[in-house]
Amino acid sequence: MTIFAKILRGEIPCHRVYEDEHVLAFLDIGPLSDGHLLVIPKEAKAHIHELSDDSAAAIGRVLPRLARAVMAVTGATAYNILQNNGAAAHQAVMHVHFHIIPKLGSAGLGVGWNAGSLDAARAAELVKSMQAALSR
Ligand code: 5GP
Repeated sequence: MTIFAKILRGEIPCHRVYEDEHVLAFLDIGPLSDGHLLVIPKEAKAHIHELSDDSAAAIGRVLPRLARAVMAVTGATAYNILQNNGAAAHQAVMHVHFHIIPKLGSAGLGVGWNAGSLDAARAAELVKSMQAALSR
């Protein structure tokens, strides 16, 4: 069982900011900046691609409202929403979670972005195969 499942069961305390039928939001214990919030589905899934439509929709419904609260309270005018899937992608807790991380001066998320360039032939191939995957 993950640490977030234990938080959901009330076995481990958290600083709860918001809760509804499908979603819990609480303060990150190791904040990158003041107000760093975690938003999790109550559904116990490790990765976002495993989530039910209901859980995903419930999170999508509240993320903007939670972001507005984070901005109002911290004074941040910029923020990142981060959602890691897989240890190789920096996921440490294997229960889906979204970070809302205010950018407050130099505090917040540091982003490495090694952009390439999109090859036209590869783009066409990707569109075709992704559309086929979506229709399966
Ligand atoms: P990940 O790298 O998996 O996207 O991030 C996991 C996040 O969960 C980290 O930012 C970490 O600080 C936070 N975290 C880990 N354990 C706990 C905990 O017990 N309570 C809270 N509130 N946050 C936690």
